[in-house]
Amino acid sequence: MDRRDFLKTSLVGAGAAAGLSAGGRAVRAAAEPAKPGVLKLCSQDGKIPGKSVKEKAEKVQEFGGCGLEFGGMDLNRAKQTRKDLEGTGCGVAALCWGYFPLIDPDEAKRQKAVEDLKRAVEVGAEAGSTGVILVPAFNGHPQLEFYEAKKVILGHLREVGEHAAKVGGRLLMEPLNRGEARFLNQLALAAQLCRDAGSDGVCMMGDFYHMCIEETSDQGAFLSAGKWCHHVHLASRIRWLPGQDQRKEPNKPERSFVDGFRGLERIGYQDYCSLECHVEGDPNVEIPKSFKFLKAQWEEATA
Ligand code: MG
Repeated sequence: MDRRDFLKTSLVGAGAAAGLSAGGRAVRAAAEPAKPGVLKLCSQDGKIPGKSVKEKAEKVQEFGGCGLEFGGMDLNRAKQTRKDLEGTGCGVAALCWGYFPLIDPDEAKRQKAVEDLKRAVEVGAEAGSTGVILVPAFNGHPQLEFYEAKKVILGHLREVGEHAAKVGGRLLMEPLNRGEARFLNQLALAAQLCRDAGSDGVCMMGDFYHMCIEETSDQGAFLSAGKWCHHVHLASRIRWLPGQDQRKEPNKPERSFVDGFRGLERIGYQDYCSLECHVEGDPNVEIPKSFKFLKAQWEEATA
């Protein structure tokens, strides 16, 4: 058999295995989402005007959103936040906690990070949040070589994930662009780690700003992320409010969210999309405008 014959037979076999119809179109697998995706707009709390959590909750809803994302906090503040938001119609999105050295060469530091993360997911659960955002290393931090790091992190993720599932919490790994964090850049790799960790408590998220730099397709990235994706950060190409790119760079196109939103719709995404960006101008004017822009992009994506 020469190379051409080999390829022909292999392709026929592969087609049958992949469930291709006679016309070559893929037959949909059974993994269709149970519900159609939804757009739940939200913001990091610091961007929303207001003196208290309650005031911010009212404001974000007035702007057209339905949730607030917070930073890391202690157990008392988590209880208070949950109480403050009860009955307001505004939910608690992710807690943007940050760096936990899960790929540090020093095992003692990694073990401490595991214990810290277990406390963090307890706090996240107490606040009623959708999860705790985690970055395993920024570029300035000591870290294991890539393949070693990939191996080592799985054990730690599993341990925290099992604890998270027990307390009703969740981990959310955030891929960042290579200029900030070289270990984890693409959604597909984060999803692979979630799959291999094999724990319901280990999940991930996507950030449109970093995706702009790292992904070749927003939709493809969210399809790879699939059921493991439980949070999204929204920002324009220059990390300003969505829809504000052309204020700074009038000759370049506005960052489009349509392709990514198609991906979210197709995976049946049910969690928050949250502003994590600079707000140019008065937030009382600009955030409602940005939410309107995003809703129009969602309409276009799901029409
Ligand atoms: Mg982010």
